Amino acid sequence: MRKNIVAGNWKMNTDRHSGATLIVNLLNGLPQEPKCTVIVAPPFPLLGTAADLLSRDGRVLLGTQDCHHEASGAFTGEVAAPMLASYSVSHVILGHSERRQFFNEDDGLIRRKMEAAMRCGMSVIWCCGEQLADRDAGHHMDVVERQLSVAFAGFNTVHLDRLTVAYEPVWAIGTGRTATPEQAQEMHAFIRQWLRSNLAPAAADTSILYGGSVKASNARELFAQPDIDGGLIGGASLKADEFLAICSGF
Ligand code: PEP
Repeated sequence: MRKNIVAGNWKMNTDRHSGATLIVNLLNGLPQEPKCTVIVAPPFPLLGTAADLLSRDGRVLLGTQDCHHEASGAFTGEVAAPMLASYSVSHVILGHSERRQFFNEDDGLIRRKMEAAMRCGMSVIWCCGEQLADRDAGHHMDVVERQLSVAFAGFNTVHLDRLTVAYEPVWAIGTGRTATPEQAQEMHAFIRQWLRSNLAPAAADTSILYGGSVKASNARELFAQPDIDGGLIGGASLKADEFLAICSGF
């Protein structure tokens, strides 16, 4: 079902104390009935603390920034989807451009991770987006279409309700340079149409988030676009006031 969602991707930031403080500050500032589904994705070591704090309150869902594609085994240092599900993780961010760039994750691997997460009953925030050179050359739609085609070839639509898409132009992530609302809307409409035509009519109801230097000052205009259902927020999710202001931007 199409929902308004704001998800905070904390990346490799915070520690035991500052992470817990950030969650407490978020819960203290959040309205009793938030205007959107709110998700935070802290680093793995904070999972237990975050799960305890969030489950007691119930207004914010717990996400993670990755999972392994196998359910268990000899994969030193990795974290499996069933482990996350046991911490009541509801959403797993997959295919983030930093995972693609720094950890060589390709669309095929991301697809396997997506299946692993969904098998455990969790939802996936699947990220896509083009590089600056692709946009400058006018190839941005082709790049995203290619990512969609690999990720969703033969996708089992039984799991459609566990899918959220995040469009994150790589040139807008952490750069302070945001896509214009028109640029973002154009791509979101394209993704929605692609999902409808290639997966199922019901896929048009998938929530599609925009990510890339979203701040309190630009969230409202982005979220007002007809095909933008919220945001995946990096840097601004580390400041409680800023993140809360983004959450109220609908
Ligand atoms: C992100 O990493 O998903 C992101 C959108 O980062 P930022 O908001 O900092 O651009």
